[in-house]
Amino acid sequence: MPYRGRFAPSPTGDLHAGSLLAAFGSWLLARRAGGEWWVRIEDLDPPREVAGAAGRQLATLRGFGFESDAPVAFQSQRHALYQDALDRLLASGAAFECHCSRTDLAAAGGIHRRCVADSRRPQPAIRLRVADGTTITFDDRIQGPQTQEVAGTVGDFVLRRADGLWAYQLAVVVDDAAQGITDVVRGADLLDSTPRQILLQRALGLPTPTYAHLPLVTDARGRKLSKSDVAWPVHADDPLPTLRLAWDALGQDPRVLADAGDLAGLLAAARAAFAPDRIPRALPATGSAMPVAT
Ligand code: GLU
Repeated sequence: MPYRGRFAPSPTGDLHAGSLLAAFGSWLLARRAGGEWWVRIEDLDPPREVAGAAGRQLATLRGFGFESDAPVAFQSQRHALYQDALDRLLASGAAFECHCSRTDLAAAGGIHRRCVADSRRPQPAIRLRVADGTTITFDDRIQGPQTQEVAGTVGDFVLRRADGLWAYQLAVVVDDAAQGITDVVRGADLLDSTPRQILLQRALGLPTPTYAHLPLVTDARGRKLSKSDVAWPVHADDPLPTLRLAWDALGQDPRVLADAGDLAGLLAAARAAFAPDRIPRALPATGSAMPVAT
């Protein structure tokens, strides 16, 4: 199957160093493979979203020269697809209604293995049943072989929340399959979500894409930035310095981009010289590796 990659930001703020790295890395891997690169806006959690953020993220991507090869998809317009998948999982018995609250599960560290609620809620959550001992292994293109004992570490996980919102795990699996994504390239903060996504793909009879988890951009204390509450904006009005820093963070030869005088020239040089095998698993803890807007 021809390579099709994607970049799937949640519109919870402006693009920051970590998301720019994911955009550039996923774009480079797609272009290197002669493949497509699609953008999908993951706007399924209105309470966490920031008005206008999706539009600004798309404008920033454009400013860096990253244009989706297909019309940009918005998850908020795809509820029917998620409902259909959920109905199938409920019908097959793979998913079940759950009335447990956070408090009910606190004693078990928040991990659901069986329902313990003694009251019923107006609208239950829906979870995927994870059989005892369920272990998922996969080979990440950057991070190497991975294993997770899903039952013990995550337990039965939520597909639709009690407040009616779709869980990221369900929506991402449905969309990656519906859009024919062959290669998922994203930040390593989502590495531990991948086994859940593979379990869901199996339950729904969907193919499993190839996964590549990019190193996280961390601050000087080694804290990750990509899911930080304080997003680090990346401005597209002067894209070359930012792209050079992202290129370095991807482990690439800095000399390749040194002479590029404009965006088109820089991206062409990057595409031609990109060496996926040089991408590091982790970055040194230096917040200064990427520019910070004040
Ligand atoms: N929307 C998710 C995020 O911004 C990324 C989803 C993905 O790449 O699978 O963290």
